Amino acid sequence: MLLSVESEPLAAGTPFPARVTFRALDEIARDAPVDYHLHTHWTDGTASAHAMALTAQARDIRAILFSEHIRHTSDFFPAFQAQARALEIKGVTIFIGTESKALDHDGTLDLALDVAKSCDALVASVHSPPAYVKGASSWSNYNAAEAVQLEFELAMGIVTRSRAHILAHPMGMSIARFGARPIHELRALARACAEYDKVFELNPRYCADVPAWLEIVTMAHCKISFGSDAHRVDDVGKAWEVFAQTQRRA
Ligand SMILES: [Zn+2]
Ligand SMILES: [Zn+2]
Repeated sequence: MLLSVESEPLAAGTPFPARVTFRALDEIARDAPVDYHLHTHWTDGTASAHAMALTAQARDIRAILFSEHIRHTSDFFPAFQAQARALEIKGVTIFIGTESKALDHDGTLDLALDVAKSCDALVASVHSPPAYVKGASSWSNYNAAEAVQLEFELAMGIVTRSRAHILAHPMGMSIARFGARPIHELRALARACAEYDKVFELNPRYCADVPAWLEIVTMAHCKISFGSDAHRVDDVGKAWEVFAQTQRRA
């Protein structure tokens, strides 16, 4: 008989060892492009895992991480993982993970423990505000200053307390929805990533100033991840293109 266990959100704690290696920007090999934030049509992406991996191969991307959106109640992940693990694309190392959202200030993630354990790396992000703050989980209840403050607190929870490895699109909600330029908060998050051995994602979809972001992670000397947040094949490799090329020119 199968025991059915009600899955719960992933409480704060020490991350499981990641099977993806992350380094600081100045320690990253210039000749080995990677993309560690990809979605597929298993969630809100438009292409299959196979098509995304083939595009990575065509663009000389050496390693990719599928970071599918997930909730702790999701049941699709084992089937997705089996399909993605079966892919063999010459020259491309394929890692499988999830992008889960912070549920509170304490680093609780919307992700089940068994799924977390099966992943090569865990990406975590701030998406919607927890309902306990203002009674509703929508950013429309916030002004820009309030959004920056709340997003910063939730992101700090991810970095300092959660079991995630990568902080996805740091301050991305404030930047994309409110037009904020939260340099002070980004600096503090990068420093916290260095202190807590977490990874700061360089994500071109939520970046207002590429040279400024590069300076922030360089000064903090935190580990970084190139994550395109690609939802279609056209965007595979974009983070590397945007950030590594800019850095090379600098
Ligand atoms: Zn996201
Ligand atoms: Zn994403």
